[in-house]
Amino acid sequence: MGRAILHLDLDSFFVSVERLFDKSLIGKPVIVGGTSNRGVVSSCSYEARQFGVHSAMPIVKAKRLCPNGIFVSGRMSDYGKYSGIVTDIIEARSPMFEKASIDEFYIDLTGMDKFFGAYKWSSELRQAIIKETGLPISWGLSVNKMLAKMATNEAKPNGQYMIEPGKEQDFLDSKHVSKIPMCGEKTVEFLATKGIQTIYDLRQFSVEALHGWLGKQGSFLWKRSHGIDTGEVHPYHDPKSMSSERTFGTDTNDLEWLKKVLMSLAEKLAFDLRGESKLASCVALKLRYSDFSTHTKQMAIPATSNSKILIEKTLHLMDEFYERGRKVRLVGVKFTNLAEGNYQINMFDDRDKDILLYKAIDEMKNKHGEGKVILAQNLNINVREHHDSRAALHKEVKREEGKAKKAGKKE
Ligand SMILES: [Mg+2]
Repeated sequence: MGRAILHLDLDSFFVSVERLFDKSLIGKPVIVGGTSNRGVVSSCSYEARQFGVHSAMPIVKAKRLCPNGIFVSGRMSDYGKYSGIVTDIIEARSPMFEKASIDEFYIDLTGMDKFFGAYKWSSELRQAIIKETGLPISWGLSVNKMLAKMATNEAKPNGQYMIEPGKEQDFLDSKHVSKIPMCGEKTVEFLATKGIQTIYDLRQFSVEALHGWLGKQGSFLWKRSHGIDTGEVHPYHDPKSMSSERTFGTDTNDLEWLKKVLMSLAEKLAFDLRGESKLASCVALKLRYSDFSTHTKQMAIPATSNSKILIEKTLHLMDEFYERGRKVRLVGVKFTNLAEGNYQINMFDDRDKDILLYKAIDEMKNKHGEGKVILAQNLNINVREHHDSRAALHKEVKREEGKAKKAGKKE
């Protein structure tokens, strides 16, 4: 079975964000890219494109082409914020995704088809993004990244397009070579001198011929004209968050067990937080039920890297939001809004004992390998009494210290 790759792209993203703040911009030719004459267009509305304006064009030229256009300088921080919101929505639902730019994503849906249909899943994701942000977004679905991106361009604006499996070459053949991503203006001009207009024209030439004319770019174009792209979807890591999740071999509704797993995930993340001298000020719980519906709930907390607090908040979210009896396929914990900081700064509050405890645990983990300690800690703590986990942790530490000493002697 082939791959299934989804490409998502927010439509004229900066303009769409501007329109969230100023409704009067809707339906008008809007050009983002500074009001001074020295800048270039960074985004423009479809109304502006009708005048021939496009991204990267000098503002001076855009003003000449579209004198009645509305020129705005743009608000980068809001673009970043909305990009983050869309990223969160995608992350909460997706098995694995890549953030290719501020407004562009790839999701690997390979293998999902047999469960409930990648097309349906993608449609629902798009509707969720539109509903939650008010931003128009388009997608394309096909067997690789290049074809998915080309399908998105076909779908724009505010649409969706799946290239039917097996129809990839038909889709490509009728397109102009300029539609191939990364095929620049100069290359298009050169190909025109050889009588090449469409992708069909292009693939009448051998890879040797194209390489002879254009070097590496020629081989690249030969592959593209045949619909070949082996590029992988590169997993996204948000530097401002840390997350960990577990998919079960068999779906379960055993709450005690689910809580133990969550404790172990939260503990491991808290350890990583402290290892990187970071503090989290938001805890999120992710639950995927057996029907693949995925839910995330989060809560803000005072910045901390204290395991006890982070575990408590995680379990609190679970108590609050888990629908009892429903079978769970995946659980995940995420700490976000990370900031630089050390748990030692809390030295003078009543948690100083915790801090010493965590220092001891962390040292032990660093020394003896974290896996063993985490497992022992979490499996031995009675989840129902997690409010008293400090005492349990103390006990565990003592026990582990004893074990560690013994192990040390043997070595
Ligand atoms: Mg875009």
